[in-house]
Amino acid sequence: MTDAIERVEIAVIGAGLGGAAAAALLAGAGFSVHTFEQAPVFTRLGAGIHIGPNVMKIFRRIGIEKTLESIGSHPDFWFSRDGNTGDYLSRIPLGDYGRREYGASYITIHRGDMHAVQIDALPQDRVHFGHRLTAIEERESDVLLTFENGRKIAAGLVVGADGINSMIREMLLGPEKPRFSGWVGHRALVNMDKLRASGLQFEACVKWWWEASRHIMAYATKGDGSEYYYVTGVPVDGWEHETSFVDSSREEMEAIFGGSHPVVQALIDATETVTKWPFWNRDPLNLWSRGRLVMLGDACHPMRPHMAQGACMAIEDAAVLTRCLEETGTSGYREAFALYEATRRDRATKVQTISNANTWLKEPEDPAWVYAYDPLTAQLG
Ligand code: FAD
Repeated sequence: MTDAIERVEIAVIGAGLGGAAAAALLAGAGFSVHTFEQAPVFTRLGAGIHIGPNVMKIFRRIGIEKTLESIGSHPDFWFSRDGNTGDYLSRIPLGDYGRREYGASYITIHRGDMHAVQIDALPQDRVHFGHRLTAIEERESDVLLTFENGRKIAAGLVVGADGINSMIREMLLGPEKPRFSGWVGHRALVNMDKLRASGLQFEACVKWWWEASRHIMAYATKGDGSEYYYVTGVPVDGWEHETSFVDSSREEMEAIFGGSHPVVQALIDATETVTKWPFWNRDPLNLWSRGRLVMLGDACHPMRPHMAQGACMAIEDAAVLTRCLEETGTSGYREAFALYEATRRDRATKVQTISNANTWLKEPEDPAWVYAYDPLTAQLG
């Protein structure tokens, strides 16, 4: 690595789900963009994720909608069911209904599969893994970024897509750890042979609910039905671990959810490897940008995942930010960032609030305001 300073028009920090979307959209709009990611190489991380029609429209623009549709599962409904009796609390139509009414598919998919497709869609010489940002210096006509590996980049604009512990957020608002939400999620890809051996039906997308909003969200992550996943939401007293997750066990699942509906019991019985993740939170931020720095996604509105829209909001942010910069050009960045925040703040905060409350689709409701929204055509400002 060299000490010489290289120049880029736009630097995106973080090649997660939001950063990869921003890089693709900004490049597609003709900007010169480089993305810097701390992970040494791409890894197929995580497990399941829902992607709503609001974001599949953006993936259409990026050119990866068909590929993701061919990999992911297409649930016809989001079901909510009582975890003990199995009674249906809501049946929210998706599938063909969603394509017709909301303008694109609703898919559930392995997050790593989706992320790989997003990364592959980027010009590979402009995605720089092994680049952990360690210092930011705001200067008169650019921002000097220093990476752990010694590389120095002078960027005209910097997009902080660096997640909940964002350095860009810290630069703008000072150091502050996210708050533990009081909830954890257990995540497991279940053993399909055991699941099939139960002889029961496993719906493509179902949320099981118990008292105090405890739940299990279970769904297929592949269109061919070869992978089934669940994530729980469970209130706990605290989180004392230093790591981002810890191992859990079938016994722990049994202790929390045992004795429930037979389909839930079959899920527990088919659990081999399960991990436990803390859910972190922040209150809505009062600043999304300053000067040449701007944030998107979990960097500025992290939320508990119960609405399955956190990454969707990050990707919507990316689409709107791109449109705002297209309106003004990079030289009009102040105006663009103000327009971006004005367009995004209310929607992101509303989703953050409902997600944290964990009420989404528990009872019959019309989700059109989330799914029918088109970030590529919605009015700016
Ligand atoms: P991230 O995806 O966290 O990406 C940030 C990136 O920045 C990372 O790659 C990180 O390595 C990199 N980075 C950080 N610091 C630096 C640095 N200093 N230098 C360089 N790189 C850096 N959302 C949905 O839409 N649908 C769902 O179904 C859904 N399910 C979820 C289930 C669970 C259990 C959880 C925990 C979350 C879920 N979410 C879901 C939310 C979603 O995962 C997040 O909202 C989303 O990942 C945020 O994207 P992001 O790009 O802002 O941040």
